[in-house]
Amino acid sequence: MNAIEIKNLCYSYDKNSEVLKKIDLSIKYGEHIAIVGHNGSGKSTLAKLLVGLIEKDSGDINILGLNLDRKNIQAIRQQVGIVFQNPDNQFVATTVEDDIAFGLENRCLSYEEMHKIVPEFAKKVGMEEYLDKEPSSLSGGQKQRVALAGALSLEPKILILDEATSMLDPKGKSEITHLLTKMRKNNQDLTVISITHDVEEAYLCDRVFVLNNGQIVLSGRPDEVFENGEEIHKLGLEQPLLLKLKKELKKIGIDISNDKTLEEVADSICR
Ligand code: ADP
Repeated sequence: MNAIEIKNLCYSYDKNSEVLKKIDLSIKYGEHIAIVGHNGSGKSTLAKLLVGLIEKDSGDINILGLNLDRKNIQAIRQQVGIVFQNPDNQFVATTVEDDIAFGLENRCLSYEEMHKIVPEFAKKVGMEEYLDKEPSSLSGGQKQRVALAGALSLEPKILILDEATSMLDPKGKSEITHLLTKMRKNNQDLTVISITHDVEEAYLCDRVFVLNNGQIVLSGRPDEVFENGEEIHKLGLEQPLLLKLKKELKKIGIDISNDKTLEEVADSICR
């Protein structure tokens, strides 16, 4: 069984122009997939449909074995965490600590458990020093870290990140990537969907889906999807730097096809 199964999904905001057109998508348990595409291709609309913020026009969405309908929406929401690009819309409390705790409050945890979990997740995202701060006083990247801690603390089975690290600098992004890799190692069923502009981030995922004009036009392993630079360029995207580097190095006899990150590439070259 797949963690997410989407068949023939169609959606339009105004019932005239279709924003998503017959989307078919299957995501296995434990996969980390990326959905990429230029602005307006329908990525966020797909994310909103997956958590029932908007309702499909037609087609089927099955999440964790449950059909996404009014009857199942609460059960699904308890197991799916979502972090949006703009965390301001997600803050509900006056301190970072209370904000991370907010979702946990609905889980009927004891005071002691709560006071263990909140600092633990704040630490995972590097925000343990900011627990008593007002979310509004934080930078965009720090706000994204707090929003991520809130979502992760609920230990979702599926995590949807909608441009959720877009305000982080490269070092911050890499820290979050490492954190997710570690969490997926500890929980091999954790399914992650990264909706992103960042082709470098997408290149590190298990599979990539490219959306264009509301349709999935390419899908597969990152190497396959990004292989044709010209095609990728036509879709408003760039070929990942790491892939370009792999190709250039191969020409001079250095094979780094198994290296996943720039750090690993640097190690191989040095060797
Ligand atoms: P992406 O996330 O890929 O940038 P979106 O899903 O946000 O794309 O948008 C897809 C299309 O839907 C765009 O043409 C956008 O203008 C339109 N759209 C998005 N949100 C709304 C809305 N609330 N009402 C009407 N049209 C919308």
